[in-house]
Amino acid sequence: MRVTFWGTRGSIATPGAETATYGGNTSCVELRCGTDIFIFDAGTGIRPLGLALMKEFANRPLTIHLFISHTHWDHIQGFPFFTPAYLPTTTIHIYGSGGQGRSLERVLRGQMDADYFPVALGDMHSTLHMHEFKGKPFQIGEAHIAAAYLNHPGMNLGYRVTHQGKSFVYATDNEPYQQTLPHLGHRAEAGRDFGERLDAEFVRFIEGADLYIGEAQYTDDEYPGRIGWGHSSISATVEVALAAQVRSLAFFHHDPLHDDPAVAAMAQTANRLIEARGSSLHCFAAREGQVLEL
Ligand SMILES: [Zn+2]
Ligand SMILES: [Zn+2]
Repeated sequence: MRVTFWGTRGSIATPGAETATYGGNTSCVELRCGTDIFIFDAGTGIRPLGLALMKEFANRPLTIHLFISHTHWDHIQGFPFFTPAYLPTTTIHIYGSGGQGRSLERVLRGQMDADYFPVALGDMHSTLHMHEFKGKPFQIGEAHIAAAYLNHPGMNLGYRVTHQGKSFVYATDNEPYQQTLPHLGHRAEAGRDFGERLDAEFVRFIEGADLYIGEAQYTDDEYPGRIGWGHSSISATVEVALAAQVRSLAFFHHDPLHDDPAVAAMAQTANRLIEARGSSLHCFAAREGQVLEL
């Protein structure tokens, strides 16, 4: 498995000198399993990935499996600029969840409506196949894919890919249920108990992963002012990773308000927490352009 981070920013693209190290492009991660090409999210990072694929494949046919976590802008906005999608020699399988009352295809078509973009989804020359999540794991080549719904406004999926004994989890935009459920309808204790059960299911979903791409968009100081926004704090994500005994944890979906020193400091804080717990978990902040072999 080879992992490349093409976009690590959350919410909105944040270019500039202050974010040059960790990057300003929004969510996009490439995973190669043998010759199979998997892409997680189509934030603005998918644009440079498209250019790299054009170079690599020149005029050869290209098949891509694109997994959309959810259809908030920062996870789909790069797709109209994904050059391989304009070639008749490209086939793209798009996986994801339907929106709130609209199919995945309709949501993706919507962002390319004539009022927003000059080219319609149907006018891209590649062959697009939409696959809406039906709750069951499936196989692509030698890779096994499982998905789970996460706690985020809208329908958001996390994905787990297992290939030749290695496992990779992409589960961004997620907040612990035990933080949000007590506030819903004043459920208090009952909400917290139910939340803990749902959070334990998420721990099982990512258990033992070689790489868990998660998010800690907020510091522990920032988080109390942002409960219910669908994101996690540093300590919440570290606790989940420790409970699941993953091998490495990549902080992803960096907050647009966090410049490079702030992101680096968050990874440092996480590593201090991990050290204090006597764990060998490797935690780092994902950098745009970073490549990892699992
Ligand atoms: Zn997001
Ligand atoms: Zn979102």
